Amino acid sequence: MLHGEVTRTRALLLLALALTVAALPASGSAAYAAWDWPVDGGEVAAGYLPPTSPYGPGHRGLDVAAPTGSVVRAVAAGTVTFAGRVAGVGAVTVDHGGRRSTYQPVVAVVRSGAEVSRGEPLGRLSPVGSHCGPRACLHLGRIEADGYADPLALLSPQAQVRLFPPHGPAPVPPEPERVVPSGDLLMPVDAPVTSRFGMRVHPVTGVHKLHDGTDFGASCGTPVRAADAGTVSSVGSVPGYGNRVRIEHGGATATTYNHLASFAVGAGEPVAQGQTVGAVGSTGLSTGCHLHLSVLLGGQPVDPEPLLTAP
Ligand SMILES: [Zn+2]
Ligand SMILES: [Zn+2]
Repeated sequence: MLHGEVTRTRALLLLALALTVAALPASGSAAYAAWDWPVDGGEVAAGYLPPTSPYGPGHRGLDVAAPTGSVVRAVAAGTVTFAGRVAGVGAVTVDHGGRRSTYQPVVAVVRSGAEVSRGEPLGRLSPVGSHCGPRACLHLGRIEADGYADPLALLSPQAQVRLFPPHGPAPVPPEPERVVPSGDLLMPVDAPVTSRFGMRVHPVTGVHKLHDGTDFGASCGTPVRAADAGTVSSVGSVPGYGNRVRIEHGGATATTYNHLASFAVGAGEPVAQGQTVGAVGSTGLSTGCHLHLSVLLGGQPVDPEPLLTAP
């Protein structure tokens, strides 16, 4: 009997050990690789300084200098638990399953509840509320179950880790890029949303994948308006998307209008906000007349809905 007890205990211990090993990261690399840098080409302007008491002074995060308008990306996959303003400063919080990352000042393009993948755009760096004024910088926070911790410990030690010289020459502020705030894009048609941005089973192919835009249930022939001023970069037929118009709005933001029946603009033309760019159709992989609007930020599709406002 005793032998049996010992054997069972050992078996349970081995099982627990096996589960522990299975839970470790497969890469075996150090924990610093757990997060990706949230902005490109940034340099650390101020490091983390742990507060001496829960409400004491300190710097509860990492300031990464980057040009205004830079695309701010999720450091890891997770769920957006906050996207909005705190005391007038735009902020985003992503929950990674117990651990959270916070980003500010950011003009969010995601909304609370959205699932984001590693590297997915969360918004753009805003100059309002910078910890590095007059420069723009992203304040990245890391919150563990027991409180604030140093984000740098989770980031890979790449060239971006250059401490900003405190007594060096004053930095030249970069040309501010235009920031697309929430509600800055015009609704391209007056029609209800029939399918939202996010994972779904494709109505034609049956494949579960990202629906990379917003569908509007407008009838064929409805004029499609440019969501913002810009320059038409391409007009033509694209597999799946059918007849498509793509407009560049500056600051790495682009919009595309898909499944069109006809075009009203040509490549290279400047367009004004609200200008008709084509007519709703059902070209490409489509089950009926509708407009598929995509918004691209830094080349990646983001949810158009939080950015749209009714005309
Ligand atoms: Zn800061
Ligand atoms: Zn669609």
